[in-house]
Amino acid sequence: MSPRNADTPRFRALILGGTAEARALAQAMVAAGLDVTTALAGRTATPLGLPGHVRTGGFGGAQGMITALIEGGYHALIDATHPFAAAISANAAEAAAVTGLPFLRLSRPAWPERPGWLVVPGLAEAAASLPSGASVLLAIGRQGIAPFASRPDCRFVARMIEAPDNVPEDWTLLFERGPFTREAEMRLLREHRITHLVSKNSGASAVAAKLGAAERLGVTVVMVARPALPPAHEVATVAAALAWVTAHAGTPNASTSKPAST
Ligand code: NAP
Repeated sequence: MSPRNADTPRFRALILGGTAEARALAQAMVAAGLDVTTALAGRTATPLGLPGHVRTGGFGGAQGMITALIEGGYHALIDATHPFAAAISANAAEAAAVTGLPFLRLSRPAWPERPGWLVVPGLAEAAASLPSGASVLLAIGRQGIAPFASRPDCRFVARMIEAPDNVPEDWTLLFERGPFTREAEMRLLREHRITHLVSKNSGASAVAAKLGAAERLGVTVVMVARPALPPAHEVATVAAALAWVTAHAGTPNASTSKPAST
């Protein structure tokens, strides 16, 4: 693979972010001298700091992303969004197909299913699965709480980073950002006499301790399975994503080249 030379514009990549992995990849790419822009949806009022450029807010669907990619002169697109952010991932796959840009999805592996988990396909099914009288730790963030708000027969402790717009008055809200330790998670489950833990299968190590804590205390885990995403070249680690980027950045005219790995 030939190195980029002085006449080749600096390799410019757009990362679709909102995850710890996206931030780590941006850090590594900026450190490698690449021109990086991270796109954030703007859901969190106080996002953690990011190196490189940051753009905040939606693109206006796949067509808007296509326009942004072309006008921004990007050489590659990396979808490093949360595994449950299905709409932006579908738009990214479509935008990559239309523009022909090298496209990578960085997605951490899902947590392997444990004995005793109740695996459900969505949040509505998770809410419906709870027995009347359950004491629930809702660890799904602040999006998607609506189906649980229609279960006044259960008691909810909801953990999130920022307050949602509509939350029932009798819920207990915990404003916390991981990582969490297993000891702290066991204290929390005991303190609130939790019988059921509802989680999305994000696979994030920073919030995995709750699963071991629930298992130790006999708390039922209701695990929401990941949504299906369009096929894409996918890697599971920041190191693998950086290797992919470096390989593409070393290719002259990376904006038009399509290595076999994509
Ligand atoms: P989503 O349902 O897939 O996306 C809805 C719309 O939000 C998209 O169509 C897009 O608007 C905009 N959007 C989403 N992610 C964006 C990004 N990184 N940059 C620019 N626009 C973005 O997404 P979501 O589930 O609401 O998640 C929003 C963000 O929060 C994502 O960046 C994701 O990584 C992060 N996050 C999500 C979860 C979760 O559980 N879903 C958890 C942690 C973090 P346009 O169509 O106008 O472009």
